[in-house]
Amino acid sequence: MPKVSALCVYCGSSNEVDPKHLRAARETGRLAAERGIEIVFGGGHVGMMGALADGALAARGKVTGIIPEILMARETAHEGVSEMIVVENMHTRKRRMFERSGAFCALPGGMGTLDETFEILTWKQLGLHDKPIVLANLDGYWDTLLTMLEFQTAQGYVRPEQMGLFRVVTSVGSIFDALEAAPAPKIPGDSERF
Ligand code: AMP
Repeated sequence: MPKVSALCVYCGSSNEVDPKHLRAARETGRLAAERGIEIVFGGGHVGMMGALADGALAARGKVTGIIPEILMARETAHEGVSEMIVVENMHTRKRRMFERSGAFCALPGGMGTLDETFEILTWKQLGLHDKPIVLANLDGYWDTLLTMLEFQTAQGYVRPEQMGLFRVVTSVGSIFDALEAAPAPKIPGDSERF
């Protein structure tokens, strides 16, 4: 049995991105499938999200999409996933993604990806959960974000130990190494307290 059975991946919905990143998303899906790790994602068949799901499904992996009704058309809900959970709004989507997953990974993405990643980070910062969070800094995509966080730390707004809430990796393969190395969560995964 894999240590993490379901990995939530946050990533971009734009199709107009570096094809290298789309290949990396596909590869993330494939590597998860090969390890028997279910992918939990936003459910869209667009951009990095679609590539991720396609990669996992092509390798016979389990893929669960969680999509709000309002985005079914805009993000072209993926029709081939193992399970599609349609929820009433964005807040429920994020909560259900949290509940369903044992770990989180951010691939390159836009504002939605940032929102999702920082929400899960701030929940961890508040001690509401202790599930692993991995930032996949592919081709230095998140370098400027890391510089911002270092600046915030230097300015006293982020405590140095908060930088330990997540792991930074630079390749798709090392996402899974980081998950293997992460200590098992001790805090119950329910979100009723949030
Ligand atoms: P983006 O990184 O902006 O391409 O968005 C990636 C995913 O995040 C998409 O599935 C968006 O629907 C989702 N998203 C966008 N804005 C938000 C938000 N405020 N809260 C949660 N998810 C969002």
